[in-house]
Amino acid sequence: MSMSVIGELLRHRARLSPDVEALVSPTKRFTYREYNRIVNKLAHYLLQLQVQKGDRIALICKNSHAFAIIYMAAAKIGALTVPINWRLKTDGIRYILEDCTPKILFYDKEFNEVAPLLGTLPFIQQEIRLDIDDASFLEKLVEGYPEEEPQVDVIGEDPAVIIYTSGTTGRSKGVVCTHNNMYSASIANTTTLDWRYRDRFLVTSPLFHISGMIIPICCLVRGLTMVVNDQFHPMKIWELLDAEKINTMFSVPSMLNFMYESLKYNFVDVPSLRMIICGGAKVPAELIRGMYDFGYQVVQVYGATEFAGAATFWLPEYGIETCESAGKAVYQTEMKIVHPATGEALPPGEIGEVVLRGPLMFAGYWKMEEATQEVIRHGWYHTRDVGWMDENGLLYVIDRLRDMIITSGENVFPAQVESVINQLEQVAESAVVGVAHPVWGELARAYVVLKEGNSITEEEIITYVRRYLPDHSLHEVVFVDQLPKNSMGKVMKYVLRQHANQQKKAQ
Ligand code: ATP
Repeated sequence: MSMSVIGELLRHRARLSPDVEALVSPTKRFTYREYNRIVNKLAHYLLQLQVQKGDRIALICKNSHAFAIIYMAAAKIGALTVPINWRLKTDGIRYILEDCTPKILFYDKEFNEVAPLLGTLPFIQQEIRLDIDDASFLEKLVEGYPEEEPQVDVIGEDPAVIIYTSGTTGRSKGVVCTHNNMYSASIANTTTLDWRYRDRFLVTSPLFHISGMIIPICCLVRGLTMVVNDQFHPMKIWELLDAEKINTMFSVPSMLNFMYESLKYNFVDVPSLRMIICGGAKVPAELIRGMYDFGYQVVQVYGATEFAGAATFWLPEYGIETCESAGKAVYQTEMKIVHPATGEALPPGEIGEVVLRGPLMFAGYWKMEEATQEVIRHGWYHTRDVGWMDENGLLYVIDRLRDMIITSGENVFPAQVESVINQLEQVAESAVVGVAHPVWGELARAYVVLKEGNSITEEEIITYVRRYLPDHSLHEVVFVDQLPKNSMGKVMKYVLRQHANQQKKAQ
């Protein structure tokens, strides 16, 4: 048994801090002693169901104490947790289940999209319906099972989780992270950030993403208390932060924006809240500055599922004037900018592809050798993100390589155009994609959502953009009520691209 495997991290934390609060959900509270005990019981329950090392356990469950306990129990016996996005429809869930062929499926009784699949997939040997509103549901399930540590020899190289990417490119891939990856990532996070023993960490963003899956491990390593809440409530978040004396939380930009807007309307002082981590997509600098002016410190994180979460952190100590940056590579991680075609390393200031190397790098895509080789080349993970680094190692992410538009031979980075459009006071948000064009290759089209009760014309937007960026940066504008987004709040550009290419304007 290797000391760095997830089950061992829990055993050691329970030994060191048995009475520290480990896990808090709206219905239950566990100390580390109690947490380890119920995890062990569930691990024995799974062993009795003939779950073996390497088997997959699929989990469709809202943020809850049950989620964390099932994840830990699977890790203790070397089974892989496959958390599934509960916002997926039946076909999306079927795709993942057929891809990873789990032996056990835990599903939350609330999710009707799972119902048509029950009893239809032969590889699933046991379907366990969870009732997370029943506070003692898990206790009842594991009643009578031993509390002792299960004896399964798990090592750091063993896979721990398969996390399916959010599918902003349309095709979801199973990212396999080992125990070593998860441990290294938790060390990278806890050594880079100012987290203190017994700090209280609020998780309202989905646990099923890497940003969520890494949090229970960080909590073990640093001895934090994880407070889980099923969903982010824009109106109640400040109340919750205050009531639970939260010190740190993870957010995505849309959540942070809600928090900022509500502070503008009604300022709330939560002195315990030392840092709000935000990322998953670029965090607008004005949002970081706005929160800073209210006295709240935002830490920006840039990362990917393939890098077990965070690859860089921007910390306020780097100076608020640098907050456009995604920050510096985390502990034990090397980052460089390379020419996207030749792979040649580029000097500071030059734009290219961001590549990363270190123990956080994932083991590969589940059953997708070719796709793995496309992104791990010569030991480096190729992010397919475009950016540049300054002399101090601060990274500036520009956009995704695949979102770049090439129009009459010129490169357009949609994120830059969007940030100009978003400066218009009538605009709530925007997304720019390329539309195929027979002569120019592509044209840049913006999908724009206006703030309620506001109006502006296509021409006014184009003129405004062309004041700051070259003329080819924007050709047309389509007004929409909302943008298609995934569960992390990221715009699914492939949906817009499909729409754009089906509904071309007169060219
Ligand atoms: P898919 O691979 O299915 O398209 P995805 O790329 O959204 O999904 P994730 O691993 O969730 O998968 O997201 C990683 C990507 O998110 C990064 O490669 C980057 O493009 C973007 N990203 C994350 N954080 C930031 C940030 N702070 N600034 C800019 N981009 C970010």
